[in-house]
Amino acid sequence: MMNNNHVFRRTLLKAASLLGAGSTGLLSMGSALAKTVQTTSSARPAALAHFKGEIITRSDSRYLGWFWAMSWYRIKPNTFPSMFARPTSREDLALLMAYANQTQTRVVARSSGHNISNPVLAQDAITVDMSLFDEIGEIDVASKTLWAGPGVFSEPLNKALYAKGLAFPSAHTGFVTIGGYLLGGGMGWNMPAWGMGCGSVLAAEVMLADGKIVTASATENTDLYWALRGVGPGFFGLVLRYKLQAHAAPKIVKNTFFYTLDQLDKAVPAFLALLPASKNRSEVLGAMGMFNPPGTPKDKETWHWAVNVFSYGATEKDAQEAAKVFTQSDVGKHATWSKAESQPLGYLDLYSQLATDFYSEFRTSEVALFTDDPTQVLKKLGARLKAKALDPRSFGFSVLGCNPTVLEPCSFTYKADHYVSWYLIGTTNDDVKKNYALMDELYQELKPLIKGYYINEIDLTHFPHMARECFSDDKWKKLHAVRKQYDPNKRFVSYLDA
Ligand SMILES: Cc1cc2nc3c(=O)[nH]c(=O)nc-3n(C[C@H](O)[C@H](O)[C@H](O)COP(=O)(O)OP(=O)(O)OC[C@H]3O[C@@H](n4cnc5c(N)ncnc54)[C@H](O)[C@@H]3O)c2cc1C
Repeated sequence: MMNNNHVFRRTLLKAASLLGAGSTGLLSMGSALAKTVQTTSSARPAALAHFKGEIITRSDSRYLGWFWAMSWYRIKPNTFPSMFARPTSREDLALLMAYANQTQTRVVARSSGHNISNPVLAQDAITVDMSLFDEIGEIDVASKTLWAGPGVFSEPLNKALYAKGLAFPSAHTGFVTIGGYLLGGGMGWNMPAWGMGCGSVLAAEVMLADGKIVTASATENTDLYWALRGVGPGFFGLVLRYKLQAHAAPKIVKNTFFYTLDQLDKAVPAFLALLPASKNRSEVLGAMGMFNPPGTPKDKETWHWAVNVFSYGATEKDAQEAAKVFTQSDVGKHATWSKAESQPLGYLDLYSQLATDFYSEFRTSEVALFTDDPTQVLKKLGARLKAKALDPRSFGFSVLGCNPTVLEPCSFTYKADHYVSWYLIGTTNDDVKKNYALMDELYQELKPLIKGYYINEIDLTHFPHMARECFSDDKWKKLHAVRKQYDPNKRFVSYLDA
C-alpha cells in the first residue's frame, strides 16, 4: 500500500505539470504539505457520514485539485486547510459545525475565493465552500426585494433582476459572488447614488458557531446585522442567504478620456472640480496603466490614466443631462484622446467595461485606499508603477467622489471620498518577492495621503495592520465585542485574531 506522503508527492507533481513550469506558487509548498499529510488519517470522519456534499480531507487524492480551485489566484499561499467541505443543505452545515466544535477545528466560509488575502486557505481550518448556496429567490417587484445565496455571482443576479426592470450594486466583475463582496462593503456600479453594496442588504440568515440559524436585520440580532455590513473577510458566522434591496434599473451613458501621466496635475483637479455639479449622478472610474487610445501604434504605447465617466438617470435624457457636466467642461481639452459622445448603455453592458478582469488571477498583491488627495496619490502611484512595475499588466484604479457610505447600522467606516487601488501582476515566486518590495515602497510614499483602506481589497498577508485602519476606533472595539458575543470560542477564522 502506498503511504500518504507518496500519494501527495505524486499529486503535487501531477498538478505542477498541469500548471506549467512558470506557475510557481506550488513549487515552494512541499515541506508544509508533507508536514500536514503526516497528521491525516481516513478519508471522511465518521461524524460526517451523513453529510451529503463533498468532503475532501488531506488523505483524499483530490485534495490538491481542491486546494488549487478554492482560491482564484494562481500563486497560492503556503497554508493548508485540514479539510474542504461543500455542503448541499442546511442539514449538511449543521453536521459540519457540530464536527468543527467537537474537534475544535476552525472554520472559514468560501463563496468564490476572490479575496486577495486567501483567507479561504487558512492553515488547519475547514474551508466551507458555500458555492451551492446559489439560489436567487423570487423577486418581489413591488418592494424590489429578494433573497439570494452567497454563491450567487454578480452578473446572473443582475440578469435576473434586469428582466424585471431592476438592478443591484453587486461587483463590477460578473464572476465575483455576493458572499464575501457584500460582507466587506461592496463597491458596485452607480456607487455615487447607491453607496456601498452592503447598504442594500436588508437582512441575512446566518449559521452561528453553535450551529443555530438566526436572522440578522435592523430589528433582529441587530449587532450581528451591524457587523455583517462592513466587517469583510473576518465575519464570525456562515451567511446562508441575504435579503437584498434592489433598485430601479437606471439608463446609462458613457464618455471616455485618456491622459498621459504628465497631464494628471491638470486632469485630476479638473474632474474633482466638477463633482459638486455632478450631484452623484455620474461615476468617474480611472484605470492607470499600459492602456492606450484605440489605434495607438505599438511604438507609441505608454502609460495612461484612462477615465470612463458613466452617467446615470431614470431616463436616457436624464443620463445625457448628467453627462453634460463632463462633456461640456474642460476635461476633454486636457485629454490626449477622448470620445465624449455619451454612448448609451444598459445596466448589463457594464459587465463588459473592465478589460483588466481577464488576467486578474495573476494578481499577486493589492491595496485599496481612501484619500482626500487623489491628485497626489495618482501622480505618485503612476510615476512609481510606470518606472518599476515588473509586469506591464500591473495597474492602478481610481474612483473619484465614489461616495463610500453605508447608512447606519454598519461596521463599515467612512474614511474619505476618493478611492485608489493598485494590483501588481506576476507569475513566479520571484515576482511575488519583487512585487512585495514595490508594495512596501508605495506604502511608505503614500502613507501620509492615506485616510483608510477598503477591507475587501487589501493584502492582509503582507499588511496585516491595515485591517485595523479600515475602521474607526469605536467600530473596531465594537467588532471585537460582537465577535465575542456570537463566536466566543473563535470558531471562525478572522483577522480580528491577528
Ligand atoms: C476579479 C475581481 C474583481 C473584483 N471586483 C470587485 C468590485 O467590483 N467591487 C468590490 O468591492 N470588490 C471587488 N473585488 C474584491 C472582492 O469583493 C473581495 O475579494 C471579496 O472578499 C470576494 O468575495 P468572495 O465572495 O469571492 O469571497 P471569498 O474569497 O470566497 O471569501 C472571502 C472571505 O469572506 C468571508 N465569506 C465569504 N463567503 C461567506 C459566507 N457565505 N458566509 C460568511 N463569510 C463568508 C469569509 O471570511 C471568507 O474568508 C474583486 C476581486 C476580484 C478578484
